[in-house]
Amino acid sequence: MTTSTVKTNLLGLTQQEMEKFFDSIGEKRFRAGQVMKWIHHFGVDDFDAMTNVSKALRDKLKVIAEVRGPEVVSEDISTDGTRKWVVRVASGSCVETVYIPQGKRGTLCVSSQAGCALDCSFCSTGKQGFNSNLTAAEVIGQVWIANKSFGSVPATVDRAITNVVMMGMGEPLLNFDNVVAAMHLMMDDLGYGISKRRVTLSTSGVVPMIDELAKHIDVSLALSLHAPNDALRNQLVPINKKYPLKMLLESCQRYMSSLGEKRVLTIEYTLLKDINDKVEHAVEMVELLKNIPCKINLIPFNPFPHSGYERPSNNAIRRFQDQLHQAGFNVTVRTTRGEDIDAACGQLVGQVLDRTRRSERYIAVRELNADSDLAQNAANTN
Ligand code: SAH
Ligand code: SF4
Repeated sequence: MTTSTVKTNLLGLTQQEMEKFFDSIGEKRFRAGQVMKWIHHFGVDDFDAMTNVSKALRDKLKVIAEVRGPEVVSEDISTDGTRKWVVRVASGSCVETVYIPQGKRGTLCVSSQAGCALDCSFCSTGKQGFNSNLTAAEVIGQVWIANKSFGSVPATVDRAITNVVMMGMGEPLLNFDNVVAAMHLMMDDLGYGISKRRVTLSTSGVVPMIDELAKHIDVSLALSLHAPNDALRNQLVPINKKYPLKMLLESCQRYMSSLGEKRVLTIEYTLLKDINDKVEHAVEMVELLKNIPCKINLIPFNPFPHSGYERPSNNAIRRFQDQLHQAGFNVTVRTTRGEDIDAACGQLVGQVLDRTRRSERYIAVRELNADSDLAQNAANTN
């Protein structure tokens, strides 16, 4: 049997890890900064293009290292400027990344897992079940790919991406180490230099990991609330049975006070017709959140096939918003963007246009993932 060296993927290494890497191969630590700038600021994956690195070191790096992002399966641009990438990760699954331009702001919505184990009843990603955790390189790789596609070189001068939200596919706190490493790179000046206020992690409420997060990083936090009481939340967000509302809100408050500066928690609330969109729910929500500095983001349900849910009418949405407004909350309604390319937030059904067949037919990523499972099984048995 021949043994081949597995190359170290430098894309997902934080500055500290990169310095350790150069230490380990007997090189000076300052090489870390040089190489990181090439990778993240200039989108370079070819060591030969790193012209301030000596030829000898470049040759050495080519043998032992690589800069490898996830494979781009498709890139679509909506008429409203929204962009969506489908990328294939090492497990063979596909995940989605969405870019939403809004005035001077450009928000990139990044995935953390292929599928999700938490099975929220209205979420298309949850319906796929869990497939795999993304590596740190696959998480930051989505930012790297998006940034390159804007041709903004260097990334920190001409910023197309001003904000990143971990609101794509998956529960970021269940892929903790890789997501934290990638978020460090988003904020690092040698990475993407995005302010900590503009990097947001969204969670459905994995309480112990919210507490853990505070020990590692100080990004902004969004909580997927979706219901104002435990009985309803147990149905919509099953992890609530393990970590009920009181416990959850306390952990969010601990996190917010760990930040050492005044910042408010974002509350996400997907509005589902006749389920959680009544005035009485808004009233209950006012009571629940009265002592928590927060802003509320209402997300009208984005439908997908066989979901069993509907989006409330515009009147019902406005009524709900008004109720919260009148109680003094800052409430926004998330507008649906990129509908023509299936990029609406929370609607990451994971559909991939099957370009090879040149038809309008879409294949659900779920099917692709099932295929790759089959392929994997086949490979294992061969
Ligand atoms: N797993 C994390 C982050 C990803 S989901 C979380 O749950 O917070 C990003 C947001 O979209 C969450 O608030 C999620 O509940 C919401 N969402 C999921 N499916 C949706 C749908 N079909 N319509 C509207 N919002 C949805
Ligand atoms: Fe997972 Fe978030 Fe979807 Fe719930 S809403 S199933 S936590 S991705």
